Amino acid sequence: MRKEKDGKRGRKKKIIHVLDASAFVKPEGLNLSEEICVTTHDVMEELKSLQAKITFDIFIKGGMDVLYPDGECIREAMERAREIGGKLSDADLSVVALALYFKKRGKEVAVVSDDYAVQNLCVSLGIKFRSVGARGITHSIKWVKKCAHCNLRVDTDENICPRCGLSDFRWVPAEKNKLRRKN
Ligand SMILES: [Zn+2]
Repeated sequence: MRKEKDGKRGRKKKIIHVLDASAFVKPEGLNLSEEICVTTHDVMEELKSLQAKITFDIFIKGGMDVLYPDGECIREAMERAREIGGKLSDADLSVVALALYFKKRGKEVAVVSDDYAVQNLCVSLGIKFRSVGARGITHSIKWVKKCAHCNLRVDTDENICPRCGLSDFRWVPAEKNKLRRKN
């Protein structure tokens, strides 16, 4: 669902969200339907649980790219990590290095992670971050199937878009639903 502000004046600059493993383990607190999402091969390989792999797949269908950070940025992230300490896996470092790569090129970027060591390294490198569930879940996400060409929402078992006749679909989170608090 496109917001009107996308078109005319007041166009909002898109933020590239670099997702770490925790984003796939508990994605319920995230609403990234309007956002650009990327992750790394190291993160993909680190995912263990079936739930995380399913969520990863949904993000891929929604257009997420899986990238390799460049060597220079990995070295820079590693050096800084050594300076400030903290336990970081290769996957953690790859996420920060990828974010650093975009930052160096003047892009708006934010790391999505619940990992304190990752967040700490981001702060140290001047990279923004968003936590996944630390503030508690406030919204549930329902996924819908949309035509990749005309953006029409189609039934999940539809194989051809009824409007444009093409069969290229993507999964996107629907409008977020605020969770009702009981008691
Ligand atoms: Zn269509």
